[in-house]
Parts: sequence; structure tokens; C-alpha cells
Amino acid sequence: MMIIRKLFKFEGAHIVRNCTSQRCRENIHGHSYQVEVFITSDRLDNGYMVMDFCRLEQVKEFIESFDHSYALWNEEPEAFKTFIHTYNRRVVEIPVSPSAEGFALLFHYVIDRILQHTEKINGEGHIRLHSVRVHETATGYAEAFREDLDLVRFHLSDIHFSEGIRSEWKDATWWNRLLQ
Ligand SMILES: [Zn+2]
Repeated sequence: MMIIRKLFKFEGAHIVRNCTSQRCRENIHGHSYQVEVFITSDRLDNGYMVMDFCRLEQVKEFIESFDHSYALWNEEPEAFKTFIHTYNRRVVEIPVSPSAEGFALLFHYVIDRILQHTEKINGEGHIRLHSVRVHETATGYAEAFREDLDLVRFHLSDIHFSEGIRSEWKDATWWNRLLQ
């Protein structure tokens, strides 16, 4: 089985509540994230590729939505949510705590949907998301596989992008199309 891998990057801010490290759970801080997306297929397209990377435009837009954004866990207290939204234009509300593991699961879920919605235009086979790795630092990563989604329960509609993010999307309707 051939696997292709595409690397994406974003600079993001968060707090990881309830984690062991006191610094991480009590302070807003940031990371230079690297996201590796692994894709497989049962056959090659007309260009002898699993999938041309140029077809991952929507995946890029999705991950870039987290760039210079605050990743806000939707279980934070209302006062904190209000504070974040009041003083930040770019905020993504997410249904998982923004740990590397949480991001890997969330990204797997959404990117899988995006790939399902990606039209086959060049003889591509059955394109499948294999896994998503999220590197929070240069030395560690979390990798989510399909079966790991059993660890969480959420829907696309639990993810909310602030107006500051949505207004910068090249295609303003992509998220709504995915929600349908
Ligand atoms: Zn952190």
C-alpha cells in the first residue's frame, strides 16, 4: 500500500486544561505546529500519483484557519470564552481539549470529511486518510488513526470559526458545504 504524506504548518495558541504540567494547564502559550497528513489509495491516478497534492487545497485552508488563532476548548468557563473572543479576532472553538492528541483526532475527523467531498477528476482510486500526526514541538507528536476516533464523540457542527477567520477564507462557503 502506497502512502503519501503532506506537511502543513501553523502557529497556534492554547491552554491544555487538566494536563499534568502546571505551565501548560494554567497559561496561554503557543507552538509552531507541524501537521503531517498521510493518504493512501487502492490505485494510482492517470499521473501515477495516489493524489496530486494540489487537490489538498481545502485541507490547507482548514489547517490555516488555526494559524495565529486561539484554539478554544468549548468546555472552558463562559467568562474565559468571552475574554478570548473579546480580545482576539481569530478563534476556533473546538469540542476537544487542544492537546496534540486532541488536534490529531479533530484533524483526522475533518480532513477525512474533506477527502470524501473531494471530487475525483484524474482517475484517482479509493482515496483514504491513513493518519494525521500533529507535532506540537520539534521532539514530540501525536498520531491519530481512524479507529482512534472511538476515543471521542463530536460532530463537525461542534467546530466554530470566528468571523476573523471566516472572512479570510478564499472560498467562503467551503465549511457550510462540508456541514451539509
Ligand atoms: Zn502547549
